[in-house]
Amino acid sequence: KLYNQVQDLKGSIRVYCRVRPFLSGQSNFLSSVDSLEEGTISINTSSKHGNSRKSFSFNKVYGPSATQAEVFSDMQPLIRSVLDGYNVCIFAYGQTGSGKTYTMTGPRDLTEQSKGVNYRALSDLFLLAEQRKDTFCYNVAVQMIEIYNEQVRDLLVSDGSNKRYPSASPSPAPSDANLVPVASTSDVIYLMNLGHRNRAVGATALNDRSSRSHSCLTVHVQGKDLTSGKVLRGCMHLVDLAGSERVDKSEVRGDRLKEAQHINRSLSALGDVIASLAQKNPHVPYRNSKLTQLLQDSLGGQAKTLMFVHISPEPDAVGETISTLKFAERVA
Ligand code: ADP
Ligand code: MG
Repeated sequence: KLYNQVQDLKGSIRVYCRVRPFLSGQSNFLSSVDSLEEGTISINTSSKHGNSRKSFSFNKVYGPSATQAEVFSDMQPLIRSVLDGYNVCIFAYGQTGSGKTYTMTGPRDLTEQSKGVNYRALSDLFLLAEQRKDTFCYNVAVQMIEIYNEQVRDLLVSDGSNKRYPSASPSPAPSDANLVPVASTSDVIYLMNLGHRNRAVGATALNDRSSRSHSCLTVHVQGKDLTSGKVLRGCMHLVDLAGSERVDKSEVRGDRLKEAQHINRSLSALGDVIASLAQKNPHVPYRNSKLTQLLQDSLGGQAKTLMFVHISPEPDAVGETISTLKFAERVA
């Protein structure tokens, strides 16, 4: 009983929801979102069979006008806790086109204002480490991987410049992928560009693999307390998940069907893990997917989790919107 109470205090699961704006050329659509207030989102599910609404509540709900800076500022305390030795997982969930990559990375033409969570998180960690430099000495290293059909691929390879992190793995590593030390925001931008280039290999215009694989940027932090000599280790996983849309099994075959089944299984495995953590269930089914196996040490216990679900506002996406919100409600 006491153990559970301690767990209640330390571990935590938050669920946020973001509705993206209509894209250019879509302005005539009536949104499927009725209202957004105080953490509650109300969806209009009206059809020719009648009018109805469904409401869902989360820790935070962002409308189409929320900026990248606003979204980041709410996540900042969570991200900063990595420097205090916590493990953090942030997941972007939603159907393809709902804005997951926009939140985590930003749009294709990146500007200072449109930069996503990944860039802001790293710059903020460097800033805070600098502010604490009289009391702590921090080392930061990153890994970037992709999980496609339950296979892990290292995205930080073949550039000649990446070296192995000098010491043994500083904190739970999601794989034996290259761990590259970084000292500045420009190091991070360089590596993220390399990772994105590597990710695009194998994808064609008609076959955009990025929507059917999970990508994970892991940030390892090691902080030495300069007075006591004590070393703190924390790590953060920033995960842009594969699109959650259901595919019609009668319409796809072969590779496309196999991909869809892998995605389906791994997203439900992730949902099962987070839901059992939220319910304080003693058995947590980590073994059912590559993603949950890799992140096992950073899910549960004292680790902090943020499930960030994304919604497209178009009325014809309402079926996927409802299933996304149901997924989110289950893990909240
Ligand atoms: P996903 O990664 O979920 O497939 P994207 O992040 O690629 O979706 O978003 C789809 C499109 O919508 C992109 O062109 C993206 O730039 C745009 N978009 C998504 N979210 C926003 C937002 N909050 N504000 C402006 N444009 C957005
Ligand atoms: Mg994407």
